[in-house]
Amino acid sequence: MSDCLFCGIAEGKGKANLIYQDDAVVAFKDIVPKAPAHVLIIPRKHIVSVSDIEDQDQSLVGRIFQVAARLARDLGIADSGYRVVVNSGPDAGQSVFHLHYHLLGGRQMTWPPG
Ligand code: AMP
Ligand code: ZN
Repeated sequence: MSDCLFCGIAEGKGKANLIYQDDAVVAFKDIVPKAPAHVLIIPRKHIVSVSDIEDQDQSLVGRIFQVAARLARDLGIADSGYRVVVNSGPDAGQSVFHLHYHLLGGRQMTWPPG
């Protein structure tokens, strides 16, 4: 999608600190980190939100979680623990409408989330 910030990053046009990419998934550091480790993992495919995931996206979503686990290991937070969060829609505070998984770690998380 031409006017989508995260499509731009996936296509190498947007400025981002990429830490992982493959044919289907890209990961980069969040520009306003909410934890010592805060990475966004996105599909290259433009999917607006969790509500827009289709049957043919099932393996893509599985891949994203595998990448999350791999990056958690690489970032040294696999043993201490981490959170994978997706905000979907207004009440959750979604602000970028290209599906993205927040990988957060490096500090004690609170529950329930705010
Ligand atoms: P959400 O509020 O769940 O939609 O998350 C959007 C996230 O994208 C926020 O944590 C922002 O800090 C982050 N963000 C926005 N623009 C950029 C950017 N250009 N590069 C990296 N992260 C960004
Ligand atoms: Zn997009």
